Amino acid sequence: MTDRHPATTGLLRWFEYSHLPAHLQAVSKPIGDVAHQLVDVLPDGPELSAGLRKLLEAKDCLVRAAIDAPNPGPAATKPCSRCDGCGLIADSDDGEPWTVWEQLPPGSAGMAVRLGLVKPIDCPACGGAKVVPTIP
Ligand SMILES: [Zn+2]
Repeated sequence: MTDRHPATTGLLRWFEYSHLPAHLQAVSKPIGDVAHQLVDVLPDGPELSAGLRKLLEAKDCLVRAAIDAPNPGPAATKPCSRCDGCGLIADSDDGEPWTVWEQLPPGSAGMAVRLGLVKPIDCPACGGAKVVPTIP
């Protein structure tokens, strides 16, 4: 990117999205990808700069729309209640969240595991993902 005009590289940096929370990245990333794809195939010049600036303005507006949205969207998740958000449950009759065992005094959980009394298994509710989709 060092061989590009400063006007081009200067605009491209505003399409960064990695610092944004996930629901804003979902809006910012596709537009940033388009900006980079077009810079790859188009020559530097006033029209490219103007186009990038308008794309940047559109991106900023759309990210603000996402900030105002009451629901972050279908990708929204909440911590899984079955496993207490740790992704694991005990293989006991109760199937309690593995966090219950982790909160025991140091050594207790390890001792029970070593004795074969209990072991962690993937949470059946979230499949070990630690979160489940939020139903709007
Ligand atoms: Zn779970």
